[in-house]
Amino acid sequence: MLTAKLREALICFKAGRVTLPYPFAPHDPAPGFRGKITLDPDRCFGCGGCANVCPAGVIQVRDAGQLLRVLEFQWRRCTYCGRCEEVCPEQAITMSQQFETATDRGDDMVMRLEVFMGPCQRCGRCYVPPTPLDRMDRTGFRTGSGGRS
Ligand code: SF4
Ligand code: SF4
Repeated sequence: MLTAKLREALICFKAGRVTLPYPFAPHDPAPGFRGKITLDPDRCFGCGGCANVCPAGVIQVRDAGQLLRVLEFQWRRCTYCGRCEEVCPEQAITMSQQFETATDRGDDMVMRLEVFMGPCQRCGRCYVPPTPLDRMDRTGFRTGSGGRS
């Protein structure tokens, strides 16, 4: 019994340290790690594709009037599956390497993106004006266009 334990201890000493020094030293996740989703407000054009595929219902899309589409990400529900990143046609969503996401503030777990759109004169539904000049034509010089709040 004692010999077996000594042999076990010897094996452990030979292996050296096998745990990571984190949290006393920074930790870089492995390539391909799926951490907190990040959103590029300049790329998103409000198509809602990400919301359609999200299995956890993290992303809600609603039109707040004729010129504004609001995307709300309740990412406390996120399962880090990466589907939203896969389907986004503009690569507006990326899974970052960020894994330290603990917080005691609920607001930290919400991302909100407002996308200024143009209404179709026939059906009234929102669409993104094709060029920045067209967009300015509809929204004027309002700041925060496409910005996160
Ligand atoms: S993040 Fe991508 S998929 Fe989602 S609404 Fe914006 S453009 Fe569409
Ligand atoms: S990673 Fe998965 S669960 Fe999280 S927001 Fe994207 S689709 Fe939804």
